[in-house]
Amino acid sequence: MALTGLQIQKLLPQTNCKECGSNTCLAFAMKLAAKKAELAECPYVSEEARRVLGEASEPPIRTVALGPDRRLLIGGETVLYRHEKTFFHPTLLAVNVDDADAPEALGATLARIRDYTFTRVGETFGVDLVSVTQRAPEADRFLDLAERAWRETGRPLVLRSPDPAALAAAASRVRGSRSVLCCPGPEAAAPLLAAAASRVRGSRSVLCCPGPEAAAPLLAAAREHDHALALAAPDMDALLALAQTLRDGGFLDLLLTLPAADPSARIQLNTIVRRAALKEAFRPAGHPLLCALPHGDPLETTAAAATEILKYGGICVLPEFDPAQLATLFTLRQNIYTDPQKPIQVEPKLYPLGDPTPDAPVFVTTNFSLTYFVVSGEIENSGISAWLAVPECEGMSVLTAWAAGKFNAATIARFFAENRIEDEVRSRTLVIPGYVAQISGELEDALPGWKILVGPQEAADIEGFVRSVLARTTT
Ligand code: SF4
Repeated sequence: MALTGLQIQKLLPQTNCKECGSNTCLAFAMKLAAKKAELAECPYVSEEARRVLGEASEPPIRTVALGPDRRLLIGGETVLYRHEKTFFHPTLLAVNVDDADAPEALGATLARIRDYTFTRVGETFGVDLVSVTQRAPEADRFLDLAERAWRETGRPLVLRSPDPAALAAAASRVRGSRSVLCCPGPEAAAPLLAAAASRVRGSRSVLCCPGPEAAAPLLAAAREHDHALALAAPDMDALLALAQTLRDGGFLDLLLTLPAADPSARIQLNTIVRRAALKEAFRPAGHPLLCALPHGDPLETTAAAATEILKYGGICVLPEFDPAQLATLFTLRQNIYTDPQKPIQVEPKLYPLGDPTPDAPVFVTTNFSLTYFVVSGEIENSGISAWLAVPECEGMSVLTAWAAGKFNAATIARFFAENRIEDEVRSRTLVIPGYVAQISGELEDALPGWKILVGPQEAADIEGFVRSVLARTTT
């Protein structure tokens, strides 16, 4: 049962030393009760209090840190729906390579995984992990590929092999990579993962456990070598019972691989597990999820991966490198994993696009990040250099800011005066968004000497506007 702030406070040192960042132990206790702080932030908690408070202060879904620098975080979520607060830790995307492919093709694929970046709205994304799967009969190729993938991409690996000895050897070869070991079958799980855990000691990897029978030796290996465990079982009851058993033993860094046969079942189970963790405080369900997608139709794979991003996936393994698929998934992920209560904004100022001279035209838009990056991108795509004036609009889009009185003739004129734009720019051509064409007259009055051009409503039409209207007007 959850403890109240007052109950928690009685278990704290009550010295009000402030080292936790709160002014008093009571304030810290209130944060703990609201799941807005972690017990570890107080350095003076007694062992007894730690034992009692451990579970009470635990977030409803455990945060698990992976990778050599422990920067890859999964779990730690507190809401069922994003609009209730926000989602914190994006679904990690892993791309799979097979050792049965030709070495030259593999080299090219690894290079593409390493070099792939996708930039959108000021954020740059790359592949989070590389999955290496043994399909060739000889283990040597798998081992070489595992080592090569780690060396050439610098990404932690998800190692998948039907051969326990090969998997254990691969774990040794990529020691220090803090990778994920996935075992294909229950019969080989315990010796394989125990061996692998030993060889990547200190790497804090995820050991994929196929069933209850392998839990005991894997738990020991995970404890000894500071790894996380990904549990699997034939059905949900067995899986959650296994998770509870390990939790009762004090081991909490668990991931769950749900027994879903298809995307429909997966989304249902993912939702049931998240709901059980958050709404019922059912602790065995409060762990991040791991899902490896099989080869198949690319559109269906993309849809399945999108489902993982939308509905609570922790790690999603994609069967192959597909930049179009990755761009789609990163776009979706970025949208899902932004705080809906905080508009993402860019700094209000005058931005040079390309290499503008003082005679270059000036565009104006709001400081909502999506608007800024779309508009600036389209201006750059048009091939001209220009200035982009971005007044403070509290991160609102053009129409919303206009309706709220944040983006009108007076606010734009004030921005021009405060930023001395007429000192920096000689041209007197200002392009306003087509959606606020109605302010053009007032703006001409507010900015004497400026020619106000009404641009297109949609950023996608800027290039055509530059070629036709702007070129004609400014020549
Ligand atoms: S660090 Fe611990 S003892 Fe100090 S104020 Fe915070 S809760 Fe109290």
